[in-house]
Amino acid sequence: MTHPSDGPTIRRVGMFGGAFDPPHGAHRSLAEAAIAQLNLDALHVLPTGQAWHKTRPLTDAVHRVAMCRLAFGDLPRVRIDEREIHRQGPSYTADTLAELRREHPQAELFLVLGADQLLAFRQWVRWQEVVSLATLAVAARARSIGAQALDAPVEEADLSGVDLPFVPLTMPLNPVSATAVRARLAAVGPDAASLDVLVPAPVASYISQNHLYQTPT
Ligand code: ATP
Repeated sequence: MTHPSDGPTIRRVGMFGGAFDPPHGAHRSLAEAAIAQLNLDALHVLPTGQAWHKTRPLTDAVHRVAMCRLAFGDLPRVRIDEREIHRQGPSYTADTLAELRREHPQAELFLVLGADQLLAFRQWVRWQEVVSLATLAVAARARSIGAQALDAPVEEADLSGVDLPFVPLTMPLNPVSATAVRARLAAVGPDAASLDVLVPAPVASYISQNHLYQTPT
């Protein structure tokens, strides 16, 4: 995907992939931290097509893309990038980074991710290609990331044993996970007073209007 504003000014490009099912407040903080701290000229936000590492079926991509536009669309330098949705077969970061490399041959590439993904990184398909294409930029995350994440004591995941090079991103530790948001919605419904705290307000409205996440996943 070539962008009209591409040119010599695009020197630092970030990739931020996820299921974004739904996008939540920590996703937005992570995108903001990455743009500011990595001094990015562009951040590609990529809702995944088929997530090779997630076993549950994801919410229809149309909704996840729409929610990403609501969650990130107002951030300067963000590009909501639908290529993984339209690609046949599972979404692999190595393929996407190789495409970004071709589109931005002069740019330095960064892969933006949370600590849980760094800890699982050697299970990623073709992870060696990923690290050869991009610098990993990693935000701290709580150890508990499942359905109970919002109720558990917040302890930071320990990255001291990681023997891969990465750049740390600084943002407040936020225990939210999409799994916990879905669990809360299924339990108490879309009018939960706390929903606006967990996801950006326009995403909360979208979830409510489209009756998403009404059953446990
Ligand atoms: P799910 O609970 O459905 O597995 P999730 O909340 O982990 O979802 P993803 O869409 O899988 O969200 O995550 C996309 C990226 O955002 C990943 O790199 C993940 O590590 C990071 N991320 C998600 N939540 C947080 C958080 N609370 N703090 C820091 N990074 C996060």
